Amino acid sequence: MAGKKNEKKAGEQPVNTDGTIEKMMQFKPFRHFDSHGHPGLEKKGIADRQGCVDFWCGNSVVARSMMGARALLGDPNPFSVITEPEQCPNLTPEVFVQYMDSANIEGMCLQAIHGVTVPYGPEKKVWKWYVPNEYVKREFIDAFPGRFTAVGGVHTRYGVEAALEMVQSAHECGFPGLKFHTATSGSPNMKEMYPVYEKCVELGLHVQFHTGCEELPGTRTKFQNPEHLDDVAMDFPDLKILQLHCGMFNNIEMSLWHVMKYENYYTDVVMPVPLLMHFRQFFDMDHMRFLEYFMPDKVFYGTDFPLTMPFYKPMLDNIMLMPLSQEFKHKLTGDNFRKFINWEST
Ligand SMILES: [Zn+2]
Repeated sequence: MAGKKNEKKAGEQPVNTDGTIEKMMQFKPFRHFDSHGHPGLEKKGIADRQGCVDFWCGNSVVARSMMGARALLGDPNPFSVITEPEQCPNLTPEVFVQYMDSANIEGMCLQAIHGVTVPYGPEKKVWKWYVPNEYVKREFIDAFPGRFTAVGGVHTRYGVEAALEMVQSAHECGFPGLKFHTATSGSPNMKEMYPVYEKCVELGLHVQFHTGCEELPGTRTKFQNPEHLDDVAMDFPDLKILQLHCGMFNNIEMSLWHVMKYENYYTDVVMPVPLLMHFRQFFDMDHMRFLEYFMPDKVFYGTDFPLTMPFYKPMLDNIMLMPLSQEFKHKLTGDNFRKFINWEST
């Protein structure tokens, strides 16, 4: 198929204007990066990490969505409802590495988490989700050099001082940023959070904000609206913001607009489930083309692993087979995030 237009001078990079066959055959070895994974659901010590058992146990939306992962982890009866920590499947950090290797994924950014809901339901329950920074550093980052990085959890339910200590802890662990889990912890534009943002700018840490819809206990959709991030980006132009889930099932259009409006505002496309990506309500082909055309350097590929364990490799294959330029696919699935956190490949 190499006609005259495809001839290249020595040393020139190939451009993505080749013919039909070249576009179809565009796989070439590339190390990807997963910008969004969740530690904490490992069986060892799971009862000590608040909220983590609830991902596997009980008859909830999230526990039912984890049944596929239970099957892959060897549970002979994955559709049964389990209730005890001892019944959780044997997820380990090694499983993360195995799945990453299977998809040629070099590294994963893990989210240590701090989340506390407002009281909910007739019993005024409060749900907490806590995966400590030190746990993630010890069990993943230090145990598998060159494969993981992480962000630390932060919230202001225990006051501003406690929140600033959470920032300091993440900094001391060597993490490149923080994550604020809006769904549990409130709107990002509440004034208590402002000292946190000041501190993050001072320390050069980015902040990740959850903006997708969420099925965890006690979580509220209104906190996840990307509208609140408009205030944060306006008031902290030097703060690097990563909008998680790009407003999925909430406000995708506004999420895209913010990335275009603000220089330091980035997004991801978590979770890129191949089935859902057929629908305009989700990240369909138009969404992907829009990203490629308007913000090719500001979008990251993440997976929500292990929540998406049953289709970890198909998710990536699906994107690599889309009619998008190879240059953009490599930015999306690796190079953009490596640049965002100054990752050095080993
Ligand atoms: Zn997530």
